[in-house]
Amino acid sequence: MNEADSEDIAAAFARRGFAVTDELKKADAVVVNTCTVRQRAEDKAISQVGRLRVWKEKHPGGKIFVVGCAAQKLGAKYLKQRFPFVDEVVGAKAIADFEDALADQFGPAETSEAAHKNLFRSPQTAYVTIMRGCSHRCSYCIVPAVRGPATFLPAGEIVKDAAARVKSGAREIVLLGQTVNAWKHGNTGFAGLLKKVLAVPGVERLRFMSPHPLYFKEDFAGLLAAEPRLARHLHLPAQSGSDRILKEMRRGYTRGQYLKLLEKLRAAAPGLAVSTDFIVGYPGETEADFRDTLALVGEARFSMAYCFKYSPRTDRPEMASDLPDAVMEERLSRLLAEVKRVSRLVLDERIGKIEEVLFETADYGRTSGNFSLRVKTGGAPGSLLKVKVTGADRNTLNGKVIAE
Ligand code: SAH
Ligand code: SF4
Repeated sequence: MNEADSEDIAAAFARRGFAVTDELKKADAVVVNTCTVRQRAEDKAISQVGRLRVWKEKHPGGKIFVVGCAAQKLGAKYLKQRFPFVDEVVGAKAIADFEDALADQFGPAETSEAAHKNLFRSPQTAYVTIMRGCSHRCSYCIVPAVRGPATFLPAGEIVKDAAARVKSGAREIVLLGQTVNAWKHGNTGFAGLLKKVLAVPGVERLRFMSPHPLYFKEDFAGLLAAEPRLARHLHLPAQSGSDRILKEMRRGYTRGQYLKLLEKLRAAAPGLAVSTDFIVGYPGETEADFRDTLALVGEARFSMAYCFKYSPRTDRPEMASDLPDAVMEERLSRLLAEVKRVSRLVLDERIGKIEEVLFETADYGRTSGNFSLRVKTGGAPGSLLKVKVTGADRNTLNGKVIAE
């Protein structure tokens, strides 16, 4: 989400004739787009702001914008007091008003053209935001507080955005939202939206991130089975494998329901790769709870997992971290080892198969299941080619392009 917001911000600058640079000494403005999902992310963002003091002394005419979730949480008053050299603070809830902050500093836009910026990926992939905020209120999560309740963009706007991205070279669209599959607008539900985006000429692969296990409707599995351009990969955050912890987290599903959903989706799309997020050391997590999480990795056959140590996001005493850091670290490293073991098995299963690869460079691309794949020859940036998988090392498949 932050990357997508940064791209919108870069587009707002582009409408005023500015280009993106990562060289501070050339910059007219610096935007720090902050995260606060864990304390460490917030600390990193804030120390980044602190380091800009020197830049501002050397470039007194330069403008500093602090935006995003940590800006929302900490507030303009606090940030401007602590860092008087900051020119504008725009919180995540008001990110649509970034244009106003920019107009205050640099004047009105020269054009109303969208001027999409693809800052974080190769040009064949574009992110399209379909919802903002979240109404789920998982116990550990600060997102609903800093991004506000869920709001869904109208299908027409989403389709227009996707079409514009394809026109500027994208072949793969990634729809974004915190509970992306909860999207609905008027009479159209998520599966209906997927169909509309797939109908945009030139969309060759469609992904979305992150779905929530609660929100898949009956019609999704049918669409997945019928539509090969829907990626054979889901990033479906589980958070924990313990029913007791899932309940305390207010996730809304049990471990059994999660596994049943995977079974159903894999029946619709054999070989569907599933990756996930886990939080270790949630308050009160016992060794038995943790073992349920550990066991889920193999049962769900995850292709990849982001594993995070619990980070308290509120001052409420019952949400404080109550495990010694050594225990957290030990559980985290056991979980990472299990994820590594299982992901290797999942990767090895691909050997011998034929995959469709969307190339990012001449020798590197991603399969529909989101596995990295390398070839020696025959690839080209932006091309979608059939590749026979010949082997795997570390996290990457190796293969040979099949001549059609
Ligand atoms: N909307 C997505 C997740 C968004 S936050 C979902 O519901 O799945 C991204 C990830 O950060 C989460 O999946 C979770 O694993 C992690 N996370 C969120 N809050 C956290 C916290 N307080 N401590 C540690 N990890 C956290
Ligand atoms: Fe946070 Fe995701 Fe839960 Fe929303 S659904 S509260 S973003 S973890």
